[in-house]
Amino acid sequence: MAHDRSAGLLHSPADAEQGLDPFAGPFAPDPGLAELLQEASQLLVDWLGDSHRCSPRPNLSLEPPAVPDLQPLGRGQLLTDLRALMGGAYRANHYGALAHLDPPALSVSIAADLVASGLNNNLLAQELSPSLSRLERRLCRWFASRLGLGPAATGVPASGGSLSNLMALVCAREQAGLQGDQRAVVFTGAAAHVSLDKALRVMGLPREALWRLPLDANGRLQPHAVEAALQRAHAQGLRPMALVALAGTTVQGMVDPLGPLAELCRRQGLWLHVDGAIGAVCGLVEGQRWRVAGVEAADSVTINPQKLLGVSKPSSLLLLRDGDLLQRSFATGLPYMEPVEGVQGGELGLQGTRPAEVLKLWLSLRHLGLQGIEQLLSQAFARAERLRQLLTAPQLQVLPGDLHLVSLGLRNSDATAAGVWRERCHQALLQQHFWLSKPDLHGQPLLKAVLGNPFTSEAHLEQLAAIINSTAQESSHE
Ligand SMILES: *Cc1c(COP(=O)(O)O)cnc(C)c1O
Repeated sequence: MAHDRSAGLLHSPADAEQGLDPFAGPFAPDPGLAELLQEASQLLVDWLGDSHRCSPRPNLSLEPPAVPDLQPLGRGQLLTDLRALMGGAYRANHYGALAHLDPPALSVSIAADLVASGLNNNLLAQELSPSLSRLERRLCRWFASRLGLGPAATGVPASGGSLSNLMALVCAREQAGLQGDQRAVVFTGAAAHVSLDKALRVMGLPREALWRLPLDANGRLQPHAVEAALQRAHAQGLRPMALVALAGTTVQGMVDPLGPLAELCRRQGLWLHVDGAIGAVCGLVEGQRWRVAGVEAADSVTINPQKLLGVSKPSSLLLLRDGDLLQRSFATGLPYMEPVEGVQGGELGLQGTRPAEVLKLWLSLRHLGLQGIEQLLSQAFARAERLRQLLTAPQLQVLPGDLHLVSLGLRNSDATAAGVWRERCHQALLQQHFWLSKPDLHGQPLLKAVLGNPFTSEAHLEQLAAIINSTAQESSHE
């Protein structure tokens, strides 16, 4: 055991040789950190560049030890263990990684995350993140204004869309004055995300408080369904608190008619939250805004740059028309922090300590530019459109969708036969390194492709469609 040069901590002889101190000191650039970062970066770059050789979803991996040994380990061992772990990781940048809303990370986002981690600032309070707190406020206002939410709009980053949805409903309840009222109910469509069920549980509301309303034949929630629900709720003496409309459902990628729903909410004095975890990013650019038309009339919006845009996880924002409502809903005072003009980051939502997620979001968006964002989105939609064209087997039923998701099942077949086809097709696809997911919709087994992966080429789409078409045709010969 030797003594650490700077921090007085014990470390191993191996580390003494390799010069890896636990912390980088304030007196000079730390060569040990520099080497560590270089080697770890190289490992990552190599891993990313090697994905085409592997399956997007490795089924075999070496498991390095999970817990610390008594003795400290040196850099060499740490990197060996890291390499082993990475061998079993999901490969988001594989051209066949099409199962979920988890695209590869933008390169700038990767670098920004590294820097944010090194800065280790805390968005809880301005004194702990002077420049980053201001950047966060400015960027949230930009998001809100791009979506057209009005002059008083702003927002707050959250560790994922589930948390954004929860905070939105807490704000809606605050606004409606229904805190502690067990008669509160929330309306949404049948295809709404499970995070809404969780949100209501956390808010102390009964499960039945979430009304999942029937959708039209395409999978969209129509105003008349909401009107009927409003009447029923009032007749039962219940208190409607919010409508959650979807800008992108999880299986089909459907966008509810946001404009007409907003109009209904305005007439009824009902809060409109748009769960745009998948699709709200379309509102950021002129060429795609039509896909989420009406989002500008929402009271609150969940937007997840971690999905379509490829900002590394987590990256979600809750945006609100009335920005002050965040503070009204969550502010507690922070007596152990210096007072600031405006509001502290930790008083804008549920989280206290928050990492500088804003840093990767900011640099990524600056790198892409509005043109780059537009291109990323339009290419994803074009791939989805192209796959739809290529899925020609008459046995297939390709569900309608508004975004970059393509879900499909077997036409005129019972769930058992469709389940057999799905399993066979899924396996055949995996053998060619295409990974689709297997959602069920109203008891029907489906396959789902998410076309957010920029490395899926025309040739890949043709290959993918050929496998799906032929398995569907085979299934009808049985
Ligand atoms: C992904 C998603 C969420 C939840 O977001 P997380 O970041 O996974 O918490 C909410 N709603 C919809 C429609 C989603 O697709």
